[in-house]
Amino acid sequence: MSNALSKPEEPPPEEKSPLKPVDWKDYRDHLTTADKEGRRMWLFPRKPRGRLYQARTYLSFLLLTIMFAGPFVKVHGNPLLLLNFIERKFVILGHIFWPQDMFISAITLLIFLTGIIVFTAAFGRLWCGWTCPQTVLMEMVFRKIEYFIEGDSAAQRSLAKAPWSFAKIAKKMSKHGIFFALSFIIGNTLLAYLIGKEQLFRLITDNPKNHIQGLFFMVLFTFIFYAIFARFREQACTFICPYGRFQSTLLDENSIVVAYDYKRGEGRGTLRRAQSKEQRKSAALGDCIDCRACVTVCPTGIDIRNGTQMECVQCTACIDACNNVMTKINQPLGLIRYASLNGIEKGQKLRFTPRLAGYAVLLTGLIVLWTILVLTRSDVQTTLLRAPGALFQQMPDGRFSNLYTIRVLNKTSRDIPIELKLENTEGKLQVMGRRIVVPAENLAENSIIIELDPKNLKSGSTPLVVGVYSNGKRVESLKTSFIGPRNDAVSPK
Ligand code: SF4
Ligand code: SF4
Repeated sequence: MSNALSKPEEPPPEEKSPLKPVDWKDYRDHLTTADKEGRRMWLFPRKPRGRLYQARTYLSFLLLTIMFAGPFVKVHGNPLLLLNFIERKFVILGHIFWPQDMFISAITLLIFLTGIIVFTAAFGRLWCGWTCPQTVLMEMVFRKIEYFIEGDSAAQRSLAKAPWSFAKIAKKMSKHGIFFALSFIIGNTLLAYLIGKEQLFRLITDNPKNHIQGLFFMVLFTFIFYAIFARFREQACTFICPYGRFQSTLLDENSIVVAYDYKRGEGRGTLRRAQSKEQRKSAALGDCIDCRACVTVCPTGIDIRNGTQMECVQCTACIDACNNVMTKINQPLGLIRYASLNGIEKGQKLRFTPRLAGYAVLLTGLIVLWTILVLTRSDVQTTLLRAPGALFQQMPDGRFSNLYTIRVLNKTSRDIPIELKLENTEGKLQVMGRRIVVPAENLAENSIIIELDPKNLKSGSTPLVVGVYSNGKRVESLKTSFIGPRNDAVSPK
């Protein structure tokens, strides 16, 4: 059959896209900081004013002081906090933790994680809004400098739109110059937390050729912090911070979060002149006058009236903004406030739920365990091993000797003299070379010889207990074994 006679082919059915089209009216469908082409929309949040902002400002003074003084303040001769991953040395509140304290470090990490879980389940992202270094530095340092140089939201917006002029260049250059200098200081502070202030000073004062690696990190950290605070900003909380990502799995309807009281606020509508509460009620209007003051102050660009959202860092700026509006229109404060979903929907007070109780018990248990471990932690850690490959030896007087290697780790910041004694049998313990004095934060290694009389030997292997003493006080007790001949071979000379 010819082709001309065959049935013409049907056009293929229209292919359906597997992707759901974006509903631009639904806040859940898109980010407030991206336009339809996916380009970043720059935020110009208004300067917050109010009691909570004031309280956060005072708290930030304290936190910034701790943050910047942390590596330079000494407690028990050690920094407040040091996280030296290169030398595997960690200092927390002046206490040195070594890799040998791995158990304590693991418990510390568990306490930190459980604490975050308990805290988030009870109080939402209180940490993010009030104490997170990113928020504190962004909102209380960099943003304040920006307000000082470029003015409030409207002035910043018009400066951004304005053509380049001398005034604009001067403002932008001074702002970014200060931002860069601050980023350098923050980068160096982070470096001091990682390598200690002594090494940091060496890095700054010594010949740069000797510290290429350190200088590389100094420059890298400076640029990273500059990029975060000058450009990346709220995106760090939305896209990068892992805590922000998993907090939604920790919150429940009893968690206290920054929330809009929709029962009181809806329906929203502008307030007309001389409109009474009764008139609004009869027009099915609530207390929200749709002024958007809460939206314009938000540093993440969201509208809290849509409910709890992942972008919300609980900074409370919207609470202050709404309270200011409520004061002006003579309405009770707290249309936006700290509240739980159950608090708003059912008027319930904060409840200590079984989930919270479980977390709290776990956290308490871990803290008790950690305290016991830290309080019973010895200042030194000793290992005693028989020298590899060395056999027992019989001496001319008939006694037998074994050679051992002892390693003593000094976890403190002072030198520690060490003495060793045989605890469970008579015999001679001799340290080769000089007396053991372990330098501060260091490891000492010595060889020791133990000599035992044949009458004190058990056949083959004799268990030994060696006491480790410092300044007359026993700090550790070590178990080892003494290798000798089998019974039938022991023949006193
Ligand atoms: S600030 Fe208060 S009144 Fe104004 S829009 Fe926000 S919730 Fe409504
Ligand atoms: S919604 Fe309110 S609390 Fe949340 S980030 Fe925005 S201003 Fe801060």
